[in-house]
Amino acid sequence: MTGLDHRTPAGSGRGWVALPSGGGRPGVDTFARVWATTIAGTSYVPLSSTELESFLRDLAGRIIDALLDDTFDPQVGYEVGRTLVNAHFTSPETLGRTVAVLGNRLLPQLGLSYVEGPDAAELASRLAMLQGSLASGFAEALRDRTLDEQEAIRQAVLLAREEAQYALRASEARFRAVFAGAAIGIGIADPDGRILEVNQALASMLGYTVNEMRGLNINSLRHPDEPIEMQQIFQELAAGGRDHIFLEKRLMRTDGQAVWTHLTASLIRDEDGTPRYQVAMFEDVTERHQLQERLRHQATHDPLTQLPNRTLFFERLNEALRSDDPTLRVGVCYLDLDGFKVVNDSLGHDVGDQLLVAIANRLVQCVSVGGHLLARMGGDEFVILVAPSRDTASAIEVADAALRSLEEPVRIAGHELTVSASIGVVERPVAGTSVAEVMKAADITLYWAKSDGRNRWALYDPERNAREVARYTLSATMPRALERGEFFLEYQPLVRLTDRTVIGVEALVRWRHPQHGVLRPDRFIGLAEETGLIVPLGRWVLAEACREAKRWQQKYPGQAPFVSVNLAVRQLHDRGLVGDVSAILSETGLDPSCLQLELTESAVMGSAGPPLDALHELARMGIRIAIDDFGTGYSNLSYLRRLPVHTLKLDGSFVEGLRPEDASDPVDEKIVSTLVSLAHTLNLTVTAEGIETSAQEERLRDLGCDCGQGWYLARPGPPEAVLAFS
Ligand code: C2E
Ligand code: MG
Ligand code: MG
Repeated sequence: MTGLDHRTPAGSGRGWVALPSGGGRPGVDTFARVWATTIAGTSYVPLSSTELESFLRDLAGRIIDALLDDTFDPQVGYEVGRTLVNAHFTSPETLGRTVAVLGNRLLPQLGLSYVEGPDAAELASRLAMLQGSLASGFAEALRDRTLDEQEAIRQAVLLAREEAQYALRASEARFRAVFAGAAIGIGIADPDGRILEVNQALASMLGYTVNEMRGLNINSLRHPDEPIEMQQIFQELAAGGRDHIFLEKRLMRTDGQAVWTHLTASLIRDEDGTPRYQVAMFEDVTERHQLQERLRHQATHDPLTQLPNRTLFFERLNEALRSDDPTLRVGVCYLDLDGFKVVNDSLGHDVGDQLLVAIANRLVQCVSVGGHLLARMGGDEFVILVAPSRDTASAIEVADAALRSLEEPVRIAGHELTVSASIGVVERPVAGTSVAEVMKAADITLYWAKSDGRNRWALYDPERNAREVARYTLSATMPRALERGEFFLEYQPLVRLTDRTVIGVEALVRWRHPQHGVLRPDRFIGLAEETGLIVPLGRWVLAEACREAKRWQQKYPGQAPFVSVNLAVRQLHDRGLVGDVSAILSETGLDPSCLQLELTESAVMGSAGPPLDALHELARMGIRIAIDDFGTGYSNLSYLRRLPVHTLKLDGSFVEGLRPEDASDPVDEKIVSTLVSLAHTLNLTVTAEGIETSAQEERLRDLGCDCGQGWYLARPGPPEAVLAFS
């Protein structure tokens, strides 16, 4: 691996950048020097300071590579730890200082500056994992060495005891020397566990005198949190026919403190194989144990809120999903604060951090009742793991409680902050699912909660997901469909009600989809608006409709219907609209008076500035403007007066209530007649949409409505059908 210029940590998709450092790997050399100074003299090693530095340079290089590598491998730390011990760095102080110098000095030496957020967290968590694995490699290598030493002692005990039986004093004396002088704690007990002899090291380790320990049962040394009776170890040895057993065990000091030990228990048999003594050798590893615990805590917790971090969360989720019991269920509530960025940006990161801590505390209170795991995933994202989960309702209860716990404003640095959150809830049986599936579902569901209006939870729904995937697929294939000519137009007559003359036709777009057949515009116009494809699609519709209309004009000059084309809001806001329309008119040679553009009420009413200018420009060119689906939006008639509008297309919902005179809905009828007369006052013509019966047509004509459109009059059809009306 070379260069630190732009690396992306595996799986995070985000990056960090290095400050300009003049190339090469200057950080490695400098760090090795700092490291060498820090540990010099902590262990006895036959190395000069230059040799020490070069030895550490190699190790530093391996650690830095591991830290920045695309695929992170914490095992490197373990190997470095072992390498240190093998080079005779065996004192806990060397380990302690090494871990500290890695934590405090490594990143600054590399000159890395981190992009805010999870990248820094990712890097810190990698470093902590490397520190942890280094400590465990160190510990294990040390243990292996100790084991070798212990074996030598065991042999001596055996020999001494055997020889003692023959009262060989010299040998007894030799045993005494080894036994008493050993730095490691040694105890000898009879097969029933009664202590016969201990050395000073063991007595001091546990806070006794040697005399006090003689005669005690070894079980009385056991720490209450240790599951196995000490006596059982001996029985296991005897039963298994093994000569020694290796364990990590907690003993209890006389002051009640726990002492973590590496314990090697050996069985000594007499000549005929009957167990005679048990010899146990104890190495005090409490400090190492505590260091490892601290490192593990560091690697699995978020420094700001002290909550478990994503590493620990994924560990627990993994465990929950690996359960053999297929009836178990698991729930995940994935929580993201609403608008947290605003707090950060306006009040500063300090306040933002304090807010996160306050929220973490609220959530802790709320999950502690059920004993669920709460983790901070990074930034303003938290997650609650409900494992096992009783049922979907109980996971939802947890989400509800979390939202409720945020209701009270949070007071920070004189600010009263109102916070809310959105939560994606996934709850399912553990069988047949994976961590990746659960998290993907949680992510999607969180997005639903956000888009459904925030400050709420949403529950994962596979059908909604399938619908969205289908929508997404449809939307992604639309541009190609436009290129391949899969869209086509149908035309529906606009009929003058007094004499049933077809005065215009509305162009309606359809999509001949290769898999789904002909799709109605309701299925894809909305999507095209979201993606912006509506602009090129709308341009195509307009050109196609104008070409067709020109053909009708050529066939029946002066008598052919005008063509009415729907315009989406987004098209009105497109700055190229006026240019596109006039280019299409001049290319097709269609007279502007033969074109009508339909806009929805909300598109027109909400417009100001350039969109409104465009509308005026189009009207000035002689194009008719119609308000589509009138009555479903703002219905602000007085505002309409100031707009260049010619026609109102009355929404089909008003027409529905119109039946034969005696059965007609009086309210709908009143509305229609009022709208018609108001429109006429404003000099607008009225077209009624959705006429499905003769009664409706009749009532509308009686109420003075000018034009009609609907299945009763004519269904949308191909362009040839239009010629038949003309
Ligand atoms: P719209 O502009 O209100 O178009 C009229 C819709 O009412 C058409 O549906 C038409 O088929 C339907 N319709 C006609 N007569 C009746 C009737 O008697 N009863 C009922 N229930 N419905 C009737 P369609 O073709 O599905 O179009 C739906 C909407 O899609 C249109 O509503 C329009 O808003 C939009 N749309 C269609 N083509 C385009 C286009 O090229 N561009 C844009 N931007 N939108 C379009
Ligand atoms: Mg329309
Ligand atoms: Mg309409």
